[in-house]
Amino acid sequence: MNLTVQEKTEKYYMPSFSRTDLVLERGEGCYVYDQSGEAYLDVLAGIAVNALGYAHPVVIKAITEQSQKLMHTSNLFYSKIQADLVEKLANVTGFDKVFLCNSGAEANEGAIKLARKYGHQLSPQKYKIITAVHSFHGRTLTTLTATGQTKYQQGFEPLPAGFAYVEFGDISALEQLIDSEVCAVMLEVIQGEGGVNVATQEYLKKVQELCARHQALLIFDEVQTGVCRTGEWFAYQGVGVKPDIMTLAKALGAGFPIGAFVADDKIANAFKAGDHGSTFGGNQLACAVALAVLNYMQVEQMPQQVREKGQYLQEALTNLQSKYPAYIKDVRGKGLLIGLQLNLDGKLFVKKCLQKHLIINNTADNVIRIAPPLIISKAEIDKLVQIINEVLQEMIKEA
Ligand SMILES: *Cc1c(COP(=O)(O)O)cnc(C)c1O
Repeated sequence: MNLTVQEKTEKYYMPSFSRTDLVLERGEGCYVYDQSGEAYLDVLAGIAVNALGYAHPVVIKAITEQSQKLMHTSNLFYSKIQADLVEKLANVTGFDKVFLCNSGAEANEGAIKLARKYGHQLSPQKYKIITAVHSFHGRTLTTLTATGQTKYQQGFEPLPAGFAYVEFGDISALEQLIDSEVCAVMLEVIQGEGGVNVATQEYLKKVQELCARHQALLIFDEVQTGVCRTGEWFAYQGVGVKPDIMTLAKALGAGFPIGAFVADDKIANAFKAGDHGSTFGGNQLACAVALAVLNYMQVEQMPQQVREKGQYLQEALTNLQSKYPAYIKDVRGKGLLIGLQLNLDGKLFVKKCLQKHLIINNTADNVIRIAPPLIISKAEIDKLVQIINEVLQEMIKEA
C-alpha cells in the first residue's frame, strides 16, 4: 500500500508536532512550492530562520564550495574557516569570544553553563537563574526549565534546580527576587514565542543595574531577535544595553543549523579546556555558510534595509488597525519581527491565510507573528498586507 507523505510521516515520526497538511517541495526567494507546484508567500520563514529566503545563491555557493573541501573535522584541530567565522562574529556582535554550537537551545544551554561556572568562582551558592514569564529558551531539560511557561514543562519533572521566574517588564518583581545567590538573569529583548512582547529600554537598563548590583550576569537570548531581524545586527544594540552573555542561532545560518553564544573575556575565561564541548559545533560547513551569510548582510547593509521595510510594514498594519480597531488590538515589534494582536481566533486566521497561499503563524493564541525573510520586497509586503486585509474582512463578516 502506498502511503501519502502525511501518512508516512505520522506513521514513523514521533508524535511531537501538529502539522499543517501542506507538503513542501522547494523554495525560491520568499516563496515555497508544494508538491503540485502551488506557490505560497512565506512570512514565517522556517520560524525566523530563512533570513535570505529560499535557495539564495550566496548560501548555495558556500555549501557547494565548502562541502567539496571539508565539512567536518572536530574541534581537536584548527581550521581557517572557523577562525574567520569567530573573528567575524566577534566583530558584528561586539564581544571578545564565541562558542559555536548547532541550535538555539544548545546556545542557551551553553550560556547557562558559562553563567553557572562564572558564579561558582564567586561562591558555590551563586547558581540561581531568573528568567521571565512567557519566555521561550528551548526544549532541552534545562532550557525548558528556563522557559517561563509551564505547558512546556509538564510531564518532564523533576526539572533541574535553581530557576525562578518574574513577570516580563516588571522591575520591582525582579528587585524583590534577585539576591546574592543569583548568577544570571536571562531575557529575550523581544519575547518571540511568547507573543512578540517588546521590552522597553528603561526596563532593560534597570535590569542591567540590578544585575550589576548583585554581581549577576545578564544573558540576552537573541536566538530569534539576532542577526538583523529587528533592524540592528542585534536587538541589544537598539536599546543600548549590552548583556554579559548573548546567544544566537535561527537566522545565523539562514537555514543551515548553527548556533553560538558570545561573551567578553572576563566572563568567557571562566571556561577552561574540557568545560564545554560539541562534536558538530563549529563544523566547517556550518561555519562557511554563516560566514557567507554575515558577509552578505554586511555588504547589503541588512540592518538598514530591515529598518526601512519594517517601518513600511508596521505603517501598513497600523493603517489596518485604524480601519478595524475592534479587531486589531495591537501592532507591535521591531524591524521584521512584528506581532499583530487580534481580537479574533488566531488559529482560524492562520488557516484562512493559508487558503490564500500565505504562510504565517500565530503564537500566544491570538497574536499573529510576522517574521519574513529579510530579503522580502515592498511588493511582497504589499501582497502580505492585502491578504491580511482580505482575511480580516472575511472574519469580521462572519464574527
Ligand atoms: C527558537 C528559539 C529558541 C530555541 O531554538 P532551537 O534552535 O529550536 O533550539 C530559543 N530561544 C528563542 C528566543 C527562540 O526563539
